[in-house]
Amino acid sequence: MAAIAVSLQDGETKSFPSGTTVTEILKDLVSGKQRKQTVAVKANGALLDLSTPVTSDLTLEPISVFSEEGVDILRHSTAHIMALAVKELFGDQVKVAIGPAIEDGFYYDFDREKPFSPDDFELIEKKMAELAEARLPFIRQEMTRAEALRFFEQLGEPYKVELLNEMDAETVSLYTHGQFVDLCRGPHVPDSSWIKVFKLLRVAGSYWRGDEKRQMLTRIYGTAFADKKELQQYLTRLEEARKRDHRRLGKQLGLFTIQDQIGPGLILWQPRGALLRRLIEDYWKDEHYRNGYQLLYTPHIARQDLWKTSGHLDFYSENMYAAMEIDEVMYQLKPMNCPFHIGVYNAEPHSYREFPIRWCELGTVYRYERTGALHGLMRVRGFTQDDAHIFCRPDQLEEEIFNIIDLNLHILKTFGFDQYDVYLSTRPEKYVGSDDHWELSTQALKQALEKKGLTYQIDPGEGVFYGPKIDIKIKDQLGRSWQCSTIQVDFNLPERFQMTYTGDDGNDHQPIMIHRALMGSLERFIGVLIEHYAGAFPLWLAPEQARIMNITDDQGAYCDQLYAQLRARGIRIDKDLRNEKLNYKIREAQLMKVPYMLIVGEREKEEGTVTVRRRDGQNLPAMTPEAFVDLVMDECDLGKA
Ligand code: ZN
Repeated sequence: MAAIAVSLQDGETKSFPSGTTVTEILKDLVSGKQRKQTVAVKANGALLDLSTPVTSDLTLEPISVFSEEGVDILRHSTAHIMALAVKELFGDQVKVAIGPAIEDGFYYDFDREKPFSPDDFELIEKKMAELAEARLPFIRQEMTRAEALRFFEQLGEPYKVELLNEMDAETVSLYTHGQFVDLCRGPHVPDSSWIKVFKLLRVAGSYWRGDEKRQMLTRIYGTAFADKKELQQYLTRLEEARKRDHRRLGKQLGLFTIQDQIGPGLILWQPRGALLRRLIEDYWKDEHYRNGYQLLYTPHIARQDLWKTSGHLDFYSENMYAAMEIDEVMYQLKPMNCPFHIGVYNAEPHSYREFPIRWCELGTVYRYERTGALHGLMRVRGFTQDDAHIFCRPDQLEEEIFNIIDLNLHILKTFGFDQYDVYLSTRPEKYVGSDDHWELSTQALKQALEKKGLTYQIDPGEGVFYGPKIDIKIKDQLGRSWQCSTIQVDFNLPERFQMTYTGDDGNDHQPIMIHRALMGSLERFIGVLIEHYAGAFPLWLAPEQARIMNITDDQGAYCDQLYAQLRARGIRIDKDLRNEKLNYKIREAQLMKVPYMLIVGEREKEEGTVTVRRRDGQNLPAMTPEAFVDLVMDECDLGKA
């Protein structure tokens, strides 16, 4: 038999008989400890099972089960074992669809008349543990597509048949473990004994192939780790995220509601949420005014012809809602504000002396999202962008970008975000505009980032077809990333709308247009804020800053007077004068995350003071109402510094 030469990336090369499996080779090349953690190998960029026979010279890279790639393989394999457990338990009632690894875990989609529920988890987990104990090997097998089709047809697995019918490949791979055979690219753990630390998490309805016209399946989500401690930490994080879920807190705090009668993905702001939003909007407008922006308001619909000129009907129509007819002319809801701002620009002639023009708008747009993709405030069908468009000359571009980044980071910091990842996306394969334009603006974006001292990653070719862009992802209290801010240079719309200005040479020129949103969408940003602060907003953002509570009815009149006095001073205050125990009132205020409780008994009434209690339980000495106003003003200023 011919010999093959195999080496590790930085190790010596050894010779083996052709056909030796990766497992056997690793016995010679790596230590026992490393081998125990090796779940698969990488060779020429492809992942291979440990059982793969090697028939040509190779350089191998062992993949540890503790690495990101390794744990993905473990999770994918756990999905298979879960499917086997489900098949063994529920047999013919169940058809299997697909089961990949995802971020933080895995899922498998099943077709069963009675959908699975978390009540089934204990049974399935127990079965999975038994199957793990049985040390079932994962056996890879290749077949022609036609053979595989016949195989899954006989097995009565229509979803696999459909997938196979749509594949181009000549041959496909199958994995067998126990009584279960799955269509799968692999690789997998060598055997089921690797699957020790796992947990099933939740179920969700899921349309086959995400298509609402197809069969509704049950998706069981789970996770798996190489290490018990990591699973524990993950479950703790999950519990923390659950406590902070903005949908739950939004209800508890009376911020917003979504109702079927109104329509999915459409937000109703309740009074407290509306107040929170107004505080954010006021702050946003003030900051923009300070930074030389002018505010615009534009309509929600426009003639369909506008969207033809802008290119949205050609490139964006699947995100737009159907047209409506008004006086025999077709109109459509806006998915973006840009063409309206251009309309304002084109209303008058412009000179180079006016530049830069900075126009901003809290513009509400409507975009189609699949029902299944909707998620609280995070993914909606109608939302308000904190939009702005800057029109400038090429020589002003870099400074304008710098100013935008500066304002951007300042605003994010005020909301408690000072950790972010910055991405610069460059020219994609398909693009409009001249190479000179692209070069100029990409350089301007780079220079501005560097001047600001920001480290950034380049996403080559990920720019929009009309220009390069900067994206900023913020990190919240739990370390999760949220894409909010985007800054995009555009050569396309000024061209399409024939925008011009008179240059210092007296000739017509085309202005550069920058699109930017800092918070992205108010809905989503507020969703992130709720989770970031776990609903306990800093004082300057709290819809209710303080709540007055009396100890007995004797202080009722004094509390009313106090309420009027503080409200007149601009404190967002409420009162709880019900005939309830003080502890009960305090608990309710704490549930509503009210920053300050002002407690009034006989002594406070006589002395004309209040006793102040913070929402964390800390008590401050009694103070006059004026002293409390000062305290609130100071803390709010500090919050916005
Ligand atoms: Zn725009």
